[in-house]
Amino acid sequence: MQSRFLYLTHTKQLFRNFKMAAFGTVFMPKMALSTFENGQWTDAATVSSDSIQLHPGAHVLHYSSTCFEGLKAFKHQDGSVHVFRMDQNVKRFAQSSNLLHLPQIDQRQVSDMILDIVAQFKDEIPEPPGSMYIRPTHFGTEAAVGKAAAPSASSMLYVLISPVGDYFAGGARPLRILLDETGMRCAPHMGMIKSGGNYASALGPILEAKEQVQADQILFCPNGDVQETGAANFILIDGNEVITKALSSEFLHGVTRDSVLEIAADLGMTVSERDLTVTELLERAAKPNVEAALSGTAAVLTSVGTLIHDGIEYKVGSGEHGPTTQKLRQALNQVQWGQTEDTHNWLTEVK
Ligand SMILES: *Cc1c(COP(=O)(O)O)cnc(C)c1O
Repeated sequence: MQSRFLYLTHTKQLFRNFKMAAFGTVFMPKMALSTFENGQWTDAATVSSDSIQLHPGAHVLHYSSTCFEGLKAFKHQDGSVHVFRMDQNVKRFAQSSNLLHLPQIDQRQVSDMILDIVAQFKDEIPEPPGSMYIRPTHFGTEAAVGKAAAPSASSMLYVLISPVGDYFAGGARPLRILLDETGMRCAPHMGMIKSGGNYASALGPILEAKEQVQADQILFCPNGDVQETGAANFILIDGNEVITKALSSEFLHGVTRDSVLEIAADLGMTVSERDLTVTELLERAAKPNVEAALSGTAAVLTSVGTLIHDGIEYKVGSGEHGPTTQKLRQALNQVQWGQTEDTHNWLTEVK
């Protein structure tokens, strides 16, 4: 009884601090877990979130057979809780697992695991602009260091959740982005997989860009083709037009990207999904009413104020937060926060 009391006091303390904590560093004490063994998934269980067992020879630790998802649950004014576009994230999770030759996930089971673990911690979901960040994770567990060129026969899948505050607390300034035409974020055939190794692959160049030109991120543009940054999609706004690269297997198909494009269309904007070259980007950026932004679940839409290319800095439009970026972010937040009608059926209520 006493240890349970201490434990609860400890977690309460953590929640009081989550607003100050860095994004994604505070976790709920329990998570949902299932493992794939002998050709089938075990029944999902709620387990302590700081205690998984992994053999040191596990496939993931040697050959990076791992993928994850990132989505959010929001608390509405009436106290109800809703997960945003869960079907899209679960579908992408299944696709990542397939492309990595991990065991096929059971999308129904994973959806239930998400809803179940969020329901258990409903009371701990921060009010908007905060939310509960949900991190499904799947990786190969077979102890077999000889399987460099063979898939893991067993795997583990869990749904970890983390209360998060406003990503913009502290007033985010528009980002400085380095345009990189020679490197790549990851191997092109890995682009649409949300897989751990891709972030390790991009880390070296990103750290170098931070140090050398004080860039916040790199926008990877192999051979002049504007793709995406280390963990967010890129969109250009020119007056009434939104321009972003059409889906290809070389980059991650963001759910936020898709949502922003749908909202832009709803607002009567022209949506152009097509190739964008660095040359065109720099030409358009010089115009006064142009805006650029990064899209992703964590930060929603973040303004890009400066592009750095071949040692020269280019302001995007005014170089400040743009009104259209703000309008699109607000429209998306209003759906997530239950402040406007969910016309696209993007919310799943957690009972
Ligand atoms: C997760 C991610 C995104 C954004 O995807 P969302 O579904 O919008 O969160 C974009 N690019 C990369 C590389 C990512 O990992």
